[in-house]
Amino acid sequence: MCSGRVDLEFIFRAFANGMDGVFIGGCRLNECNYITQGNYDALNIVLLSRKIMAHIGLNPERLDIQFMSSGDGIIFTEVVDDFSKKIRELGPLGKAEEIDEDQLESKLAEVRRLIPYIKIEKRKKLASRLKDEKEYDGLFSAEEIDELLSEAASYYIDPAKCQACMICAKRCPVEAIAGGKNLIHVIDQDACIKCGTCFEVCPPRFGAVARLSGEPVPPPIPEKERKIIRKSKKAVADKG
Ligand code: SF4
Ligand code: SF4
Repeated sequence: MCSGRVDLEFIFRAFANGMDGVFIGGCRLNECNYITQGNYDALNIVLLSRKIMAHIGLNPERLDIQFMSSGDGIIFTEVVDDFSKKIRELGPLGKAEEIDEDQLESKLAEVRRLIPYIKIEKRKKLASRLKDEKEYDGLFSAEEIDELLSEAASYYIDPAKCQACMICAKRCPVEAIAGGKNLIHVIDQDACIKCGTCFEVCPPRFGAVARLSGEPVPPPIPEKERKIIRKSKKAVADKG
């Protein structure tokens, strides 16, 4: 496939599946047959992934991207040989970095869960077209990735504002919102991938979804208190 199709998810899924190294081969920069220039996108994904790897304690050398044409068979062989040798020298993923298996699994799972959020937050830089190799290292800084991952926003539905219109639950890509007709909606924080869709789609007249950063998410409202009693029905109930 075109290297422009390579996604952060592919890279971190490969590591989560136990790969010790990931190599991406793309067409030479500026030789893309299409105006999309997808190999630049792949390069940016790799630069970002390498910083994320460093953030979670993995050696970024385990991920590489090289550009060549389909006629560069010899170059391809040499590059892949060199990469394989480097990975063999680095040793198994995690062990060489002295991260225990469970810890590695949970770090990779957390990164994968945050991928939609990372892609939204870094979308402008991911669309960059770096012409000079010297710029590669500066596209994403270690500090910005530390900040990005430590301050990942959480989303919370304010029970006092939710009107159970159900739009957020229908649009959530991972079914992380529990709700139903006349029920205050609640986000399952463990399932939420922090894509921000619920925040975007909650009608402004309700404004029930809050984006929280650097503060704890309030506990979910207990199930038995989620039923919404509409004003007209409440008046009838009170009279009765
Ligand atoms: S941010 Fe909202 S829409 Fe996105 S996964 Fe979390 S609950 Fe679902
Ligand atoms: S979109 Fe807003 S008002 Fe509608 S169910 Fe979700 S949180 Fe509640």
